[in-house]
Amino acid sequence: MKNKNQNTDAGLRVERTAEQTGLVFFPAFDWAISPTHPEREERLLYTRDQLFEEGIMDLPQIRQYQPRLAEFKDIARVHFCVPDIETQATEAHRVAAGGALVIADALMNDEIRNGFALVRPPGHHAKRVAHGNRGFCNINNEPVMVEYLRQKYGLRRIAIVDTDVHHGDGTQDIYWHDPDVLFISFHQDGRTLYPGSGFTDEIGGPLAQGTTLNVPLPPGTTDEGILFVLDNLVLPVLEEFQPELIVNSAGQDNHYSDPLANMSFSARGYALLNEKLAPDIAVLEGGYSIETALPYVNMGIIMAMAGIDYSNLYEPDNKEGLIKEERGRLEKLGEIVRELSGTFRQRKDLIATVRRQKAGSMIQRQRQIYYDTDQIRETQLETLKVCDRCPGYLLIGSDASGSRGRFRIYCISIPIQCCPRCQREARDYYTDIRQQTSEPLNYLYLQDRPADLYRQYDYQTKKEKIIE
Ligand SMILES: [Zn+2]
Ligand SMILES: [Zn+2]
Repeated sequence: MKNKNQNTDAGLRVERTAEQTGLVFFPAFDWAISPTHPEREERLLYTRDQLFEEGIMDLPQIRQYQPRLAEFKDIARVHFCVPDIETQATEAHRVAAGGALVIADALMNDEIRNGFALVRPPGHHAKRVAHGNRGFCNINNEPVMVEYLRQKYGLRRIAIVDTDVHHGDGTQDIYWHDPDVLFISFHQDGRTLYPGSGFTDEIGGPLAQGTTLNVPLPPGTTDEGILFVLDNLVLPVLEEFQPELIVNSAGQDNHYSDPLANMSFSARGYALLNEKLAPDIAVLEGGYSIETALPYVNMGIIMAMAGIDYSNLYEPDNKEGLIKEERGRLEKLGEIVRELSGTFRQRKDLIATVRRQKAGSMIQRQRQIYYDTDQIRETQLETLKVCDRCPGYLLIGSDASGSRGRFRIYCISIPIQCCPRCQREARDYYTDIRQQTSEPLNYLYLQDRPADLYRQYDYQTKKEKIIE
């Protein structure tokens, strides 16, 4: 399934012979939204106790790594941080993202055959523009890792499968316009759970249609329903997309005991899901049943990744046999699977039609984004330059108000696959708008991924910061 031994567009050849599963463990002792918040350090302390108790860390199949700090540049590749990276990315955020980078390096250096970054704070609700914390997230760890892999190792085609109970709306936003990153999220139906998005009609931007796929699951969906979606949609789509790398945003809050959601997934269900998906790298997202589920689900995933028999893995309150899938639910899921398989198959035609009709023009969308944790309201106007040769570049005007005041920013993002003409155009635009803008802006940003260079201009001090 994974195209590891073939040449890619970048001429890369990845041979992997390593046998071990890499683990990074970072509970972030000194970071929490508040001491009693569900996203707190105990989430990983119980997991750690369980792993030590079972002797998992001493097994020859496991290789443990220490996390490191992600650089500012690693974050600038993904986010426009307001007012700056230092404000949005605390040391804990940088270590969580850095933990994923350590696993990525170990994998690419053929030290491990797969790896799991058990880190917090989580990240999958953090969008491209980061004014504050949304859904417990400031910095999105998986995109930071994916963009690092693309820059450092030349990878291009990557799949991210988000198995958290909440829609991975931040990751979706970051890859909305990227046809080379396939983002698949299954989650509890957004009509019944935060963040209220992730419906089947959210399929990616005009030049990346069909590379975002969302499966809203009815509350109460069991192992049977989730594995049905995996077998009938996720695995066939991955087979056709042929990613060079599969990343799993591993949220454990689909578990039947999770206090923040209403699903009926078991620890062994998660382990089987992981075995079938066979991700190269898993990165921990949510999971708030910190004593009764998280240690067992994490254990199941590690065992599956390391090829250890998990058939005797049960939660202390084992309910696996008691939970039956509701009659009629698989038919409903079957409809969703058929719809999304169709969208995926048509993606090239859908994109070609946009190119034919709109090449050279700008396509806009306006949206409102709410940062529930930090209570910030943001209005965004996003403009995509439609190019006939590349995925185009992106212009984002953002106006946000919250307790820290009002910030008006303008962002220019050049994707890594951008054609030379669009690259020039976008860089010239940055220079123009820096010299003269009629709008009262605080900051102007340039995210230049082809040059791996990131600029931020402060209109008040008239100073430019360059991260390279
Ligand atoms: Zn979650
Ligand atoms: Zn172009």
